[in-house]
Amino acid sequence: MIFIIGFGHEKIKNIGPLKERKCERCNNLKFWMLQKRQLWVTLFFLPIFPSYTEYRMSCTICGEFIRMSKEEFIVAEPMAIENQKLVNTFNN
Ligand SMILES: [Zn+2]
Repeated sequence: MIFIIGFGHEKIKNIGPLKERKCERCNNLKFWMLQKRQLWVTLFFLPIFPSYTEYRMSCTICGEFIRMSKEEFIVAEPMAIENQKLVNTFNN
């Protein structure tokens, strides 16, 4: 039997807007998105488990990002989720 194993299947999960910040790359003052980026090991092209996890917040205009520690992410996550709920409420 041949196993087809792959690496580096990328998934980026947007948690929610975190805080307003001026981007050094595109100069826009916008809410930055809290994100979890993971690279997954795949078996027969299906993601099985993450091999790498990166926590970050990202400029929604140009994609510039700042890496965060897992501890910072855990603290920021509930706020980003609440902010996302507010955005959803206003958009409905
Ligand atoms: Zn930007």
